[in-house]
Amino acid sequence: MLIDGELVEASGGVRFDVVNPATEEVAGTCADGTVDDMNRAIGAARRAFDESGWSTDVALRRRCLQQLKDELDREKETLRPLIVAEAGTPVLLTYAVQQDSCIDDMQWDIDLLDRYEWERELGEHEFFGMRSNRVVVKEPLGVAGLVTPWNFPFMLNLSKLTPALAAGNTVVLKPAPDTPSNATFLGRIIAEQTDIPAGVVNIVTGEDPAAIGEVLISDPRVDMVSFTGSTAVGKHIMEVGSRTLKRVFLELGGKSANIVLDDADFPTVVGNGAMMCTHAGQGCAITTRMLLPRSRYDEGVDLLRESFETFAYGDPTDPAHMMGPLINSRQRDRVLGLIDTGRREGARLLVGGGVPDHLERGYFVEPTVFVDVDPDATIAQEEIFGPVLAVIPYDDDDDAVRIANNSRYGLSGAVTGADLDRAMGIARRIRTGTVSVNGGQWFGPDTPFGGYRSSGIGREHGVEGFEEYLETKAIGYPV
Ligand code: NAP
Ligand code: MG
Repeated sequence: MLIDGELVEASGGVRFDVVNPATEEVAGTCADGTVDDMNRAIGAARRAFDESGWSTDVALRRRCLQQLKDELDREKETLRPLIVAEAGTPVLLTYAVQQDSCIDDMQWDIDLLDRYEWERELGEHEFFGMRSNRVVVKEPLGVAGLVTPWNFPFMLNLSKLTPALAAGNTVVLKPAPDTPSNATFLGRIIAEQTDIPAGVVNIVTGEDPAAIGEVLISDPRVDMVSFTGSTAVGKHIMEVGSRTLKRVFLELGGKSANIVLDDADFPTVVGNGAMMCTHAGQGCAITTRMLLPRSRYDEGVDLLRESFETFAYGDPTDPAHMMGPLINSRQRDRVLGLIDTGRREGARLLVGGGVPDHLERGYFVEPTVFVDVDPDATIAQEEIFGPVLAVIPYDDDDDAVRIANNSRYGLSGAVTGADLDRAMGIARRIRTGTVSVNGGQWFGPDTPFGGYRSSGIGREHGVEGFEEYLETKAIGYPV
C-alpha cells in the first residue's frame, strides 16, 4: 500500500489472495489494510492538503502528473498481464479503455491545467450603496476519498485520480478487493518514479470493505467521496456522507436501451447484437435492453440468435475473445439467479442461460438472450451485470421512447436508423447522461460521463468532471 509517501505492508501483517477469475487460481496477494492503516492514510492526506504546497502549486501538479503519465506509458507491458489476470478482462480491451487509452487520456486533464480559468472577474456591482469588484476563484476541495469497482479497475482509478490531483486535492484511493493489484502497482510508480509529495496520494487495499471503506466514507477529515459502483452502495455513501456533509460524486448502475428503428440496417446493428457481451456484460453503460420494432421483430430475433450463438468467448488472454469470465463466483451466481427470474417471469429464453460446457474453470456464463420481455419484468429493470440481453418489442417511436425511459436508471443508450434527424430527435428525448446515435461514440477524455436518476450524481471526465473536484469562492473588494 502507499501511505504517507511510504510503500508499506498492512499494520496487521496480513495479506489476502487475488484470484484470477478465468482460472480460479491465485494470481497474487495483496496487503489487507486495517482501520489503523486507513486512519493513517486519511491523516496523511489531510496534512498534505493543509500543509504542503500541492493545493496551490499548479506547476508542480502539472510536472508530477506528466511524470506519472510518462512512467505509466513505459510500464504498459508490465501492467497489462496484471489487469487481465485480476479483472478477467479480454486482453484486447487493455489496448483500449482498460489500459492504454486511459493512460493517453490523462494528457487531457494535464493540459487542461494550462488553459483552465482558475479566476473570473465579475466586474463592478453596487450593493448597500457601495461599489465593489468581485472575483470568482476556483480552489481544490480538500481530501477526496476515491472508491472504485472491479470491472474497469485501472481506468476508473485513473479517471478519479487524475482530475482529483490536477485540481489540487489530496486523495485516499480504496480499490475493489477483487482488483487491488493495478492500484498497488500505481502506488509503487507514484512513490518511486514521481515527485508527488508524501501524503498527496494514499492507496489502501483490503479484503473487507466494511472495515476500511466505511472509515473512508464517514471520516470528517474527508471532504468528498468519488465513487463508482452499485446504486445500493452509492445511496449508502450519500447517507453516511450526509453526517459530515461531504460532497459526493456517484457513478452508478445502468439499464440502457438500444433503440433499433424500423429503417435501420438490421444485419449490421442487430446482427452484431452479441457485442453487448463485451467483458461479459460487466460495464455500466452497456446497452442491455434492445428495443425492436414489431414490424421487423422476427427478422431481428433471427439475427440475434445467430449473433449470440456464434459469439467467441473464453480465455481472456486470447485476443480473439471479447468476453471472458465474470469477476467472481458471487457475481456469476447473481447473474444465474437473475436468468432464473427471467424464465420464471415468462420471458422466452432464446440463447444461453447457463454455464458453458466447454470451459472447465472460470466464472463463465453463456451469452444469453431473452426475447418477448415485458418492459416491467425484473430482467428489464434490474442491472444484471452479465452477458444477458433483454429484447423488448415496440409499436412506434413514441412507444420506444416511453419504454427506454421506463427505468429507474438513466446512464446511457443508443438509437440507430437511416434518418439521422429522426434518430437525433429520439436521442434528445431519452433521459440519460450519454446516447450513441448510429454507432457514434460519445466516450472521450473531454466528454462528461454520468447518469440521471438512480445512475448517479455528477459527471466524470471533461471540464464538468474536473470541476467536481473544485470549490468556488467569491471575493469582493472596494472599487
Ligand atoms: P459495490 O459493492 O458497489 O462495489 C464497488 C466498490 O465499493 C468496491 O470497492 C466495494 O468493495 C466498495 N464498497 C462496498 N461497500 C462499501 C462501503 N460500505 N463503504 C465503502 N466502500 C464500499 O459492487 P459489487 O457488490 O462489487 O457488485 C454488485 C453490483 O454492482 C454489480 O452486479 C453491478 O450491478 C454493480 N456494479 C456497477 C459498477 C459500475 O461501473 N457502475 C461497477 C461494479 C458493480 P467490495 O467489492 O468489497 O464490496
Ligand atoms: Mg460489494
